[in-house]
Amino acid sequence: MSSRKKYEQRCRRCLMRQELCLCAQIPDLNLATKLILVMNKREIKVPTNTGRLAALALPNSVILSRGVEDAPYDLSEHLPTDRPAVLLYPADDAILLTPEWVATAGPFHLVVPDGNWRQTSKMRRRDPVMATLPCVRLPPGPPTAYRVRRETKAEGLATIEAIARTFGILEGPAVQKALEDLFQLMVTRTLASRGIGDSAGLRSTSG
Ligand SMILES: [Zn+2]
Repeated sequence: MSSRKKYEQRCRRCLMRQELCLCAQIPDLNLATKLILVMNKREIKVPTNTGRLAALALPNSVILSRGVEDAPYDLSEHLPTDRPAVLLYPADDAILLTPEWVATAGPFHLVVPDGNWRQTSKMRRRDPVMATLPCVRLPPGPPTAYRVRRETKAEGLATIEAIARTFGILEGPAVQKALEDLFQLMVTRTLASRGIGDSAGLRSTSG
């Protein structure tokens, strides 16, 4: 089967296969905190890219893609001016993200470079606006629940998990749970379609 044909059998919005489409279960989290996700253009159409899924649940979000010839993006054009932005990146001098720190220093908008260690450090080096943003990092937490794609990120988390935990601190636990539930549904359905685990995700949308 051609890759074109495979692509056509996927939902154009969530990129899951039609029978696994998540769109009816994607929450509508209209938040004051803007998510700016920066990824390589090749990642945008990868169904197992979870950053894109997070952006679908967050109407106040934008995906900027690197590697598009003749269409360089300017991060500063996407940073609202009503509050400062922080970069989720584990630099040596990254500030530990805690509710206490956010209460005194925030609120913020959030920029997330999406990629592995090498890609995100390159993005930061090459983007003069990104390079000036203060970096924040997540406190230690539970390990990833991602069993679909091997992750090579610093924290070992899928992008949507890192975003969920960050929004949990910036916006509260209900937002974190909504994003984590969406992610869990994606994992369950994908694994079920591969014949791994039970098929609960295919039968039920309420669990
Ligand atoms: Zn869909």
